[in-house]
Amino acid sequence: MTLTAPQSTISDLLTHQRDFFATGKPRDLGFRLDALNQLRAAIVEYQADIIAAVRQDLGRPEFEGYFEVGVISELDYVIKHLHKWAKRRKASLPLSQWPSSAWVQPEPLGVALIIGPWNYPFQLIISPLIGAIAAGNCAMLKPSELAPATSGVLADLVKSTFDPGHVALVEGGVDVAQALLAEPFDHIFFTGGERVGKIVMQAAAQHLTPVTLELGGKSPCIVDTDINLEVAVKRIVWGKFLNAGQTCIAPDYVLVHEAVKPALVKALQQRLKDCYGDHPAQSPDYARIVNDRQFERLISLLDYGTVLAGGTYDRGDRYIAPTLLDDVAWYHPVMQEEIFGPILPILTYQELSDAIAAINQRPKPLALYLFSHDQQVQKTVLDQTSAGSVCLNDTIFQVSAWDLPFGGVGHSGMGAYHGKYSFDTFSNLKSVMKRPSWLDIDWRYPPYQGKVKQFRQFIGLS
Ligand code: NAD
Repeated sequence: MTLTAPQSTISDLLTHQRDFFATGKPRDLGFRLDALNQLRAAIVEYQADIIAAVRQDLGRPEFEGYFEVGVISELDYVIKHLHKWAKRRKASLPLSQWPSSAWVQPEPLGVALIIGPWNYPFQLIISPLIGAIAAGNCAMLKPSELAPATSGVLADLVKSTFDPGHVALVEGGVDVAQALLAEPFDHIFFTGGERVGKIVMQAAAQHLTPVTLELGGKSPCIVDTDINLEVAVKRIVWGKFLNAGQTCIAPDYVLVHEAVKPALVKALQQRLKDCYGDHPAQSPDYARIVNDRQFERLISLLDYGTVLAGGTYDRGDRYIAPTLLDDVAWYHPVMQEEIFGPILPILTYQELSDAIAAINQRPKPLALYLFSHDQQVQKTVLDQTSAGSVCLNDTIFQVSAWDLPFGGVGHSGMGAYHGKYSFDTFSNLKSVMKRPSWLDIDWRYPPYQGKVKQFRQFIGLS
């Protein structure tokens, strides 16, 4: 079912999903696998529509459109491993607990609400949905209204694939999101910005609903001296400028050792030409800014610093050239907020400790990138900074390893997902202990007189 809905319709829909959940169907392993396979088939069927929709919403090149469809690789991974994850997980017990047995029994939470952003508008709804279904839940989806074409494709896909009691989609903007948030869901999975993340968490608190918040922030990219410059530059440019910089884990800014800066800048300038030509506005491989509001915000960030490449824009086309910015200070607006667009400030450091201190003075980032082959440098950065994820000598790729949790820390979010981490996020990991009755020693029961010494020994005191 899909609808743009007032509160009463949303309440009815939730009741319908609760009733469906109560039938026990969604938690049946065969049903879950069938649903995941149907979802896979639907994505394959809709792939051209998905790619066309993200082109319409974001001017996304076809190649980058496939990042959305690529969510099927996660689906395949989940389908392959679900049997194992859904099983009881045996827990070990100390000898003193003999003859008990214990295990963790994953169980679904109920009905999950999944709210998505506009930048990867298909993938960031479907990827959490995979986890919700795999764990045996029902799900209600609310894609971003700021990617309307993709929202429409998602609505069609969901309608044609799922029983609305199992998975339903509600289209709409802030009012619809707030109507949904007023309901007592069993889990809320939110991907978006920090400001709305706080609103979601406040709403969830009213019902004590657990939340996963996948937020953003400024992800630094440290470039040290021991690097393969050519490869590093290719990877930085790709990670920063794909989807015109509108990627939550894009390198937000470069923090380069001052000895390397001149060579890095030259190589970055050349690389931009290699990728997007002399006129990136005409490149078929370069996306556009999602809407006028984001466009104006980004343009205002260009008021400070020196442009080393790009810096031009076209309002009518919502085009901003891939831009390198020099002479930027931490107090400039471009360094005060998540950029989320095709502007790459280049800052320098003399000592690695200075770069680390600069990062640690700011909110913990969603991702941190380090280009260095020096293992001591790698260890120092890993040990002395905190981030949701780190990729050494590349960008973005950590997000495609289904065995790695994906999430933020501190202001960049809470909770994580992907692969088994999604399964666990959408599960209650229920602890079970089983005790036989044939043995029942009296040591714990009142009257306690004469039992304290024995109990002290039992808990490890002499
Ligand atoms: P956003 O927070 O503005 O919107 C996200 C969703 O929240 C949308 O569906 C929107 O309808 C809803 N929403 C907006 N205002 C609301 C309100 N007042 N009350 C309730 N719901 C509301 O985020 P966005 O602009 O769509 O996405 C950009 C942000 O998302 C960036 O900060 C980016 O870093 C982050 N992001 C994070 C990840 C991640 O995986 N961690 C992925 C993509 C984007």
